[in-house]
Amino acid sequence: MTSQRLDTFLEKNLQDLKDKGLYNEIDVLEGPNGAKITIEGQELINMSSNNYLGFANDERLKVKANEATDIYGVGAGAVRTINGTQAIHEELEQKIAEFKGTEAAVAFQSGFNCNMGAISAVMNKNDAILSDELNHASIIDGCRLSGAKVIRVKHQDMDDLREKAKDAVESGQYEKIMYITDGVFSMDGDVANLPGIVEIAEEFDLITYVDDAHGSGVMGKGAGTVKHFGLQDKIDFQMGTLSKAVGVVGGYVAGTQNLIDWLKVRARPFLFSTSLTPGASAACMEAIDIMTNSTEEHDSLWENGRYLKDGLKNLGFDIGKSETPITPCILGDEKLTQTFSKRLTEEGVYAKSIVFPTVPRDTGRVRNMPSAAHTKEMLDQVLAIYEKVGKELNVIS
Ligand code: PMP
Repeated sequence: MTSQRLDTFLEKNLQDLKDKGLYNEIDVLEGPNGAKITIEGQELINMSSNNYLGFANDERLKVKANEATDIYGVGAGAVRTINGTQAIHEELEQKIAEFKGTEAAVAFQSGFNCNMGAISAVMNKNDAILSDELNHASIIDGCRLSGAKVIRVKHQDMDDLREKAKDAVESGQYEKIMYITDGVFSMDGDVANLPGIVEIAEEFDLITYVDDAHGSGVMGKGAGTVKHFGLQDKIDFQMGTLSKAVGVVGGYVAGTQNLIDWLKVRARPFLFSTSLTPGASAACMEAIDIMTNSTEEHDSLWENGRYLKDGLKNLGFDIGKSETPITPCILGDEKLTQTFSKRLTEEGVYAKSIVFPTVPRDTGRVRNMPSAAHTKEMLDQVLAIYEKVGKELNVIS
């Protein structure tokens, strides 16, 4: 017999979410994630994935994953510190460090895990964390878990950061103070002002932590936002994911040897959760090799981003202020945004609506994530469908 209290709780709250239109139905892909996907038998142009370079179904990565599986098996068998560290895990970390221009790196099973583990391994109740108000959920949770005092900083507002850093230092209450930010903000596509941040960090001796989940593979010819600004020696934590541009799964921190040594003895997902599979590790290494040796995919991604942005802008859509290929189409009203996204899907374009609370109220948007795998023909089709739906719903004339 199952718990009556649990059943009552679940039924009431699930119904509540459904009544408010907040229950998320999950679409199931009938095949790989790529520029085209199939859902319930319908082929759609996929504008919703983070598979920026098209690596999620790349033959070269699949071959390496299969080879590593043959050599090392399908699973690592244990957490890293017991006997789950295989040669391939260490090779991956070395490759990440070289790619990021740091002394060392440590890999985690996901980006979410990585933020939870890395932030809480270094910060504690005697510390303060200054955090951009639009930071990712995994940063917010990692900060909470650390027990440090969390101070929200207005989005990309250097004056607010300076003032709050100064107050925190002058209060004399904190042993360490960190500033943490996304490198690229995924809802708007804007890039963190790392030179401004480093200047303030140096003035107040802040620890700097950049979550470059959406910048790795995209900025700095692939090596990320920190490299883009040439600040490899100035940022303490270069965090990234292996799940977006790299196309596989996992997360990492790149930094000094001391920092990585510390994370390997204190970050709890490293200590208590089984390591990445050998196949995933090998596929990640291949993606990094490809990015290191060529900018072909990176260049196509940017070209496609520019093409889509120009096209939507010329049609009269508000595409915000993205500085990266991420292309939001800002519609404002939440209901309109949801209807727009639904109509796009019916016409053959899979682009998700993003509304409050993920973005501020009345800034609902359909977010487009172009990738290296999209062709010009696909993007022309996307633009034609946007034009049709935009006119139908009176968003453009
Ligand atoms: N940080 C940011 C900024 C992200 O967008 C995401 C993924 N949505 C993560 C961390 C978590 O990464 P992963 O999906 O690899 O767990």
